[in-house]
Amino acid sequence: MKTVVERIRTGRPVFSVEFMPPRDEADEQLLWNAIRELECLDPAFVSITYGAGGSSRDRTIRTTGRVARETTLVSMAHLTAVDHSIAELRNVIGWYAALGVKNILALRGDPPGDPNGEWVPHPQGVNYADELVRLVRELGDFCVGVAAFPYGHPRSPDLDFDTDNLIRKLRAGADFAIAQLFFEPEDFLRLRDRVAARGHETHLLPGVMPLTTPKILAKTVELSGAQVPPRIAARLDPLVDDPEAFRAEGIDLVTEMSQRLLAEGVPGVHFYTFNRSKATKEVVGRLGLVPSRA
Ligand code: FAD
Repeated sequence: MKTVVERIRTGRPVFSVEFMPPRDEADEQLLWNAIRELECLDPAFVSITYGAGGSSRDRTIRTTGRVARETTLVSMAHLTAVDHSIAELRNVIGWYAALGVKNILALRGDPPGDPNGEWVPHPQGVNYADELVRLVRELGDFCVGVAAFPYGHPRSPDLDFDTDNLIRKLRAGADFAIAQLFFEPEDFLRLRDRVAARGHETHLLPGVMPLTTPKILAKTVELSGAQVPPRIAARLDPLVDDPEAFRAEGIDLVTEMSQRLLAEGVPGVHFYTFNRSKATKEVVGRLGLVPSRA
């Protein structure tokens, strides 16, 4: 199986998609419909998120393994340090290796329950993502990614501190980074400039989510940590009572933003899908990121 870096360093722009592990059988059906719908569009890779604990973690391992085994797709497993001792982390990483997964997104994670609550590391675990990057690197020949934050991580005191942390993760051995959601292309490009200004070259992928409903817009506010800019509010707010028009405008907005980013030379666009394929398909089609046979 190829690595994420091999798949994004092709010289032509690509797209990738993120899924969540299914919670039940209906969810599993939805997820696999989305995977099959997107598989024929040849995404560079698909990633599976890692839950806050318990059975959802087993489902991440199972789903990533199944993608690796039963599809033509390159899969990437997320992994967080939450509530894991180093021995347990080694065990999960070992499972990924055994299932043929070559790509891991190494994350610190948030406190379970309240993501804004106090972060308490596992007494025999790791405290920050850079330590997890080192651990994954030590244990095998993985291609490792990390998270990046256009507006800074909420726990970082300022953007300088936050950028230094991203550089620390890259120096620890991360091969690429995926950005948290943001609203304007310039927000992402400023992050890229901050990294370049520190003399570090990396593959930095913007993360985007088609703004199909007011709920998705609210989720983008929550995850990005930024308010909806007036320019975007002016286009979407008048449409909140017209679902079809809202969806069309939201898709236009994400398409325009992605076009600008591709024109600025990003290697690809990473889509947060919430296990749905339709909007992503529409946007990547309009961006011309699909093989001509599709
Ligand atoms: P870190 O890089 O460790 O940073 C966390 C905070 O600690 C930052 O404020 C940083 O500045 C600070 N810090 C780092 N090192 C030091 C130090 N030495 N001293 C002081 N402060 C320090 N969460 C999930 O639970 N599951 C997922 O699957 C998942 N997938 C994600 C995918 C992407 C692309 C992104 C962007 C986020 C994802 N998250 C996921 C959310 C992520 O786990 C949280 O945002 C988490 O709060 C931060 O993780 P991190 O890896 O960036 O942490």
